[in-house]
Amino acid sequence: MPPLEPPVQKKFVKKIPGQKDFLPEEWADLDHLLERLKNLAKGFGFSRIEPSLFEVSEINAKFHVKEGKAPVLKVSGADEAVFRTNAISGLLRMYLDARTPEKERLSKWYFISPVTVHHENPYQIVSNLEYGFEVIGDESPIFDAQVLALAWKLYSVLGEDKIVLEIGSRGCENCWPEYQQILSRTFSDAKYSLCKECAASVEKHPEKILVCEQAECQSIAADAPAFIDYLDAACSSHLTTVLESLDELKVSYVLMTGSDLDPHARRTVFRFKFNHPQDSFILSHGMRHDHLFSHFNVSPRPALGLVGDFSKFLRAWHLSGAVLQKAKSADVALIPLGELGAKKALSLFSNFWDEMISVVNLFDENGLKARLQQAADMKVPIALIVGQKEALEDTVILRDVKSGMQEVFTSERILSEVRKRLGE
Ligand SMILES: [Zn+2]
Ligand SMILES: [Zn+2]
Repeated sequence: MPPLEPPVQKKFVKKIPGQKDFLPEEWADLDHLLERLKNLAKGFGFSRIEPSLFEVSEINAKFHVKEGKAPVLKVSGADEAVFRTNAISGLLRMYLDARTPEKERLSKWYFISPVTVHHENPYQIVSNLEYGFEVIGDESPIFDAQVLALAWKLYSVLGEDKIVLEIGSRGCENCWPEYQQILSRTFSDAKYSLCKECAASVEKHPEKILVCEQAECQSIAADAPAFIDYLDAACSSHLTTVLESLDELKVSYVLMTGSDLDPHARRTVFRFKFNHPQDSFILSHGMRHDHLFSHFNVSPRPALGLVGDFSKFLRAWHLSGAVLQKAKSADVALIPLGELGAKKALSLFSNFWDEMISVVNLFDENGLKARLQQAADMKVPIALIVGQKEALEDTVILRDVKSGMQEVFTSERILSEVRKRLGE
């Protein structure tokens, strides 16, 4: 093996603070979770979309809910552009831009999109990979259940005992204002015991008192009537159907005590929490948010979305102690020995690839034994060994990785022999 290079001087390797790189071993974990998400999305009938990286600043800002700002890109004579801080603004813009509602009644879209937020103090640009599911065009509670079931399956890899689904309802234009009035009346008697901010919210936004963290306010809020008892018939039946579907799917949940304060939330609101002795956090959250379309001056339409960020999912995966299960990565491993063997292996690789037989080329400096072990670790059933002698004689050694039995075949016959052994 050639000697290793001397260490690189770090001061010459600069990086933007807050940015995240993925080394091969980290990427393997992330890739595993990404594949899981993509397979589930496919299984539940979602199509992937990807909005452009830059969004008109004004559009992005309307959906920007996190701390920090969007890094702005100013180009003279054009709209101010930002590297998006969320994917939903782009998704809805795309949906309207492509005139999707005229083409399909129901759209089930998902995204896995990089987003970026700019913090000034301390200076850092935090990038994240956001993922989400959006169902637009149907208000049936069956779609709420579908998205919740999908996410539950996605997170089950972390251990079902560590996942808590909190679910509730934010009602509708009919029942929510009525509940607000009831809350106002309840809190007005206790107005002088509440914190300053809560006291100011009693009339217009009494629901804010329910989530205040001050001990005084919490003890007063504990006796407030629960919204779930004030839902109108339509909202109540919607929630009941969602909960019944979850029961049927054996998804465990707890009813949300607090209320989601997002002004766009309507009916179903939920969040998935990860609970671990070392850390607990929200993996993703979602709601029905028909009124999001008002940002584009179009009338509301049924829309349900879930959004999460991959760094949290990855962190939960590491905390859960889950280990990557090695699946069969290819049908055939090519193991060339020496330069002549390597050349021959390259043409075999090309032939197998063209014939759509999955093949991995173990072209490195390790010895034969190490590479056979590598093939076994990768769960590849067949190894093809090509050394100097085989290359000159135009033959290939076929080895059954598990049993160690091997046989020599001519290059001409090897493809049909491999097919036979793979049972094709
Ligand atoms: Zn309602
Ligand atoms: Zn308070």
